[in-house]
Amino acid sequence: MVIKDVSLEIVCGVSSRLPETTLPEVAFAGKSNVGKSSLINALMNRKSLARTSSQPGKTQTINYYNINHALYFVDLPGYGYAKVNEKVKAQWGKMVENYLHGSGQLRQVFHLIDIRHAPSENDRTMYDWIVKSGYHPVLIATKLDKLKRSQIQGQLKLIRTGLNADKNTVIVPFSAETKQGREEIYGILDGILND
Ligand code: GDP
Repeated sequence: MVIKDVSLEIVCGVSSRLPETTLPEVAFAGKSNVGKSSLINALMNRKSLARTSSQPGKTQTINYYNINHALYFVDLPGYGYAKVNEKVKAQWGKMVENYLHGSGQLRQVFHLIDIRHAPSENDRTMYDWIVKSGYHPVLIATKLDKLKRSQIQGQLKLIRTGLNADKNTVIVPFSAETKQGREEIYGILDGILND
């Protein structure tokens, strides 16, 4: 896939209704700071269109990027930021649940996990939630460049076992620095578009 044309088309806040879109959607989920904006920017070939870091206190939104007028990248708000209060957590849950259950166009969920760490409790909850919503997420192990080559296989195994993901679950190691893994993700997107 060659991404030529991108625009942030829809920003959906906590009290807005989900847009009625007609293009297929792929969603990106992950804890704050996992590298979600960096991944989305790398896929779109943009330096900073996707906001970096869902900092506490920032409005939580679901952002729809129109890609080549062919599909949407749906950037879900990040989770797991230690300092957010219960109200913000509840809003996050409502938004994400509403999206996972309400989108008629969602074809694939990319769930991002930092390759350096075992999945957290929040990661497991998110993963189970995606699965219970009827999706089989593709895992993206982010920040690949931060590991030594000899550590990679062990960490990927830790992610798979930590999430209790079955052996068919695809895990794509990815680096926003080197762009390693990007072609594999484009391949998955091509598969969705040709479906
Ligand atoms: P988000 O909160 O999930 O959107 O995370 P960001 O994309 O803002 O990334 C959080 C931090 O991790 C930033 O300082 C990024 O520069 C850094 N980061 C993201 N991806 C990578 C990566 O692949 N390699 C390295 N070395 N740093 C990364």
